[in-house]
Amino acid sequence: MNLAGKDKKHIIHPWSNLGSDAESMIIESGKGVHVFDSEGNKFLDSISGMWCVNLGYGNEEMAQAIADQCVKLAYYTPFGAMTSPPSIQLATELSALTPGDLNCFQFTNSGSTAVESAIRFVHYYFNCLGQPEKKHIIYRENAYHGSTYLAASLNGKRCDRSYFDYVTDIVHATSDPNPFKRPQGMSIEDFCDLRVNELRDKILEIGPDKVACFIAEPIMGSGGVIVPPPGYHKKTLDVCREYDVLYISDEVVTAFGRLGHYFASEEVFGIVPDIITVAKGISSGYQPLGAAIFSQKLVDRISGDSASENSYYTNGFTYSGHPVTCAAALKYLEIMKRDKLTDHVLEVGPYFMERLETLMELPAVGDVRGRCLMACVECVVSDNEDENIAFAQRVDEFCQEKGLIVRPYENLCILSPPLIIEKKHADQIVDILGDSIASTMDEMGYS
Ligand code: PMP
Repeated sequence: MNLAGKDKKHIIHPWSNLGSDAESMIIESGKGVHVFDSEGNKFLDSISGMWCVNLGYGNEEMAQAIADQCVKLAYYTPFGAMTSPPSIQLATELSALTPGDLNCFQFTNSGSTAVESAIRFVHYYFNCLGQPEKKHIIYRENAYHGSTYLAASLNGKRCDRSYFDYVTDIVHATSDPNPFKRPQGMSIEDFCDLRVNELRDKILEIGPDKVACFIAEPIMGSGGVIVPPPGYHKKTLDVCREYDVLYISDEVVTAFGRLGHYFASEEVFGIVPDIITVAKGISSGYQPLGAAIFSQKLVDRISGDSASENSYYTNGFTYSGHPVTCAAALKYLEIMKRDKLTDHVLEVGPYFMERLETLMELPAVGDVRGRCLMACVECVVSDNEDENIAFAQRVDEFCQEKGLIVRPYENLCILSPPLIIEKKHADQIVDILGDSIASTMDEMGYS
């Protein structure tokens, strides 16, 4: 049996159609912004693996740092009063970069576990403060926050909410702030206020004494690269503050350079949330690492002299603060700083967006949106959603035939290239995507 056959037999892929006969594409190696499949085909990877390989592939400095730490200390427990140096060094360095007083880190091994840990912290926090009824969580339609039970219960994408079971008693959805889908004739400002007021109404409907937190991605990623209207995050944070609702900013995609800054909450959207969750880019995808980052003020209220009697923080993982994952993140931070990666993104990102916007000239393109190196092209050829999805899927196939990997989601082509892309790569991505949309229009008769 060939490799693809063995994969089909033995592996259950995340977000895969278990009824499909299609074989997986096997990616065997990568160098820079390119990956190579098992048949030797070369692809420009416009999705950084999965929003994560910020430095591109085959980075030998990263490999060396990981190898060095493996030899020095491959693992030690972080439980109780045990630790190892890389996690301490990483938390200290990150504290200098995080917004406001977000100085306290709980390391995890993924984005889902970062979100899960953040929510469990929030529940523990309100229990300690004697407000055990404050447990409800508000999330947004089209959000993506992970695949563990509680984190998955905060996913608002339609396709993520079928067949599985979810926590239902303490989670509540509010609408997403997608300006592209706003009611006809409504101004962006009024649309923003509409969504902010919906959040307020939701808090009041549940009861402010019961709502623990609101969770939001700065720019919604997998749900369709939804950039909120200006002022949306500030206004939603103000509403949260008014009702003592904690604000969790899920920066699993947006932190560590994708938007040209270390953290998007403060530097792009001007807010200092109570909690930030990160993963993916923190180690440039070279090691599985995530973190929930808490405001010092929150932690101070439940620790030290303020700790509740007999309380015990039973939240964390064998691999929290794993020395090898933290060594990878430390090396990534060093490279980011040395190579002025955020400056590079602030130069190449707007160029990429500008070039992508030219695709709006194609009749099949309904919207192009995003910021810096986080973008999406929405295909709209019909009023029928299924036809739009079929169209985008065919675009994706054409892209692969032409040597480009994009990420299809419903009728969207999602793009999140490695941060090291140069303008020539941005041109290649836009050219191939444009050609593929044109070929699909011809083939499916939409020209
Ligand atoms: N939050 C956001 C915003 C994400 O985009 C993702 C993953 N795409 C997650 C959480 C979950 O991360 P992971 O897949 O590492 O568990």
